[in-house]
Amino acid sequence: MSIQTNLEIIKSELPENVTLVAVSKTKPVSDLLEAYQAGQRIFGENKVQEMVDKWSQMPKDVEWHMIGHLQRNKVKYIAEFVSLIHGVDSLKLLQEIEKQGAKHNRTIECLLQMHIAEEETKFGMNKEELAQLLDSDEFKNMKFVKVTGLMGMATFTDNQSQISKEFNSLKTIFDYYRLKQIPNCEFKNLSMGMSGDYKTAIYCGSTMVRIGSSIFGSRSYQE
Ligand SMILES: *Cc1c(COP(=O)(O)O)cnc(C)c1O
Repeated sequence: MSIQTNLEIIKSELPENVTLVAVSKTKPVSDLLEAYQAGQRIFGENKVQEMVDKWSQMPKDVEWHMIGHLQRNKVKYIAEFVSLIHGVDSLKLLQEIEKQGAKHNRTIECLLQMHIAEEETKFGMNKEELAQLLDSDEFKNMKFVKVTGLMGMATFTDNQSQISKEFNSLKTIFDYYRLKQIPNCEFKNLSMGMSGDYKTAIYCGSTMVRIGSSIFGSRSYQE
C-alpha cells in the first residue's frame, strides 16, 4: 500500500488529541515528500546527521522530532531547528541543550525519557531520577529548555497485558507531574506507542505516537 493510504488509515484511527510523529529514519527524502504531500508535517528521526540532511532538503514548515538517543556533542547540529527532543534522560544532556538553545536564542522543547520496559538495554530514567532532575537548581535555572512531557518505550513483546502495564505506569507518572507547578515544565505530551503497540498506547493515554514501519514499510536494518 502507498504511504498516503497508510497515513490515511492510521490517522483515521487516532483520536483528535493524539499527535502523529511519522518516523522516517532510514527512508529516502522521496518517501518523506510523499508523506508531506499527504499532509504530514511532523517527522521523527533518530540520527543527527540524517536529520540534518533531510531538514536541508525538505520544506521549511516540517517539524523535526529527535526520537533517538542523542549524544551531547551532537546537540549543536540540531539546536537551530529541532522542534522536540524525545529521548532526554540526564541533566547533563539537558545542560548541553540549554547551552545550545542559548546560542540560538530559542527555547528547545524536550521530553524526558522514562525506563518502563523490562529489558535492560533501553534508555531512560526511573521515578527517583526524574524527581531529582526536576527538583535540581540546575534545571530550575534553565532558560532555554522546556520540558513538555514524558516519553517511554514498552518491552518488545506480544504480551499485551505486559505492554499495558508498562504504559499505564508511565501515564501515572505523567498525570502526577501534570498537576504540579514546576519551573520550565508543562506536561502536555505523553509520547508512547510505535507501529506494534500504538493502539494499546492510545488506550493507556498516549498523546503522541511515533509510527514508522506502518507508514513507510519495514526498514532494511533495525534501529
Ligand atoms: C524506530 C522508532 C520508532 C518507530 O518504530 P516502528 O516500529 O517502525 O513504528 C518509534 N520510536 C523510536 C524511539 C524509534 O527508534
